[in-house]
Amino acid sequence: MKVRITGRYGEVDYLHPKGHTGIDFGIEEGTPLRSVFDGVVEKVVDYGSENIGKGVLVRFEDGTTGIYGHMSKIFVEKGQKITEGQTLGLSGNTGFSTAEHLHFGLKENGHFIDPTPLADKVGEYAGSAWDRFLYNGNVTNNDYPTVWGWIYEKTFGNRIEHFVTDYISAFPLLAVVSLGVFGLCNMFSRSFAKWGVIITFILGGLAIL
Ligand SMILES: [Zn+2]
Repeated sequence: MKVRITGRYGEVDYLHPKGHTGIDFGIEEGTPLRSVFDGVVEKVVDYGSENIGKGVLVRFEDGTTGIYGHMSKIFVEKGQKITEGQTLGLSGNTGFSTAEHLHFGLKENGHFIDPTPLADKVGEYAGSAWDRFLYNGNVTNNDYPTVWGWIYEKTFGNRIEHFVTDYISAFPLLAVVSLGVFGLCNMFSRSFAKWGVIITFILGGLAIL
């Protein structure tokens, strides 16, 4: 998923008087976060309302450690082997944080290093609205930084996702209605009944649009 970077590495502000140790991404709460490499869960932390709140530290194959912070849910545990793309948990707004976001940090030999080269990959491996629906049952979307992203969100991208999820939830109702239509039309002719069912599903889809 294309995500907006809201805080850069090394930035000094009132939240990070000693400099920001990672990158922040504007990611909505409940978005699945995935490991950018194979690795092993080094630590699962929960600092309460301090620091990165709930977080996961993954020791990647190359020896660096990726830190995912401010999460709402964590699906992995210490010592667990992780494959690239595996879901670690859901993003959130825990810890010392003013808005829902993902903090991603990188450590090498115990020192923070700049994770910016991995930023695109971290974003790519964060879930889409469809993913969020699968995990949380809602499809509200992120702010997109590009004009194209905005158009996509506001037009068909958003609509297709909503349409698919709405159609799936309306499916039982459509099935019942089409069964009734089938029964009624069947009194006249079999092919009439078949078309009745098809038209019911098409009209149902149009109603959802
Ligand atoms: Zn941060």
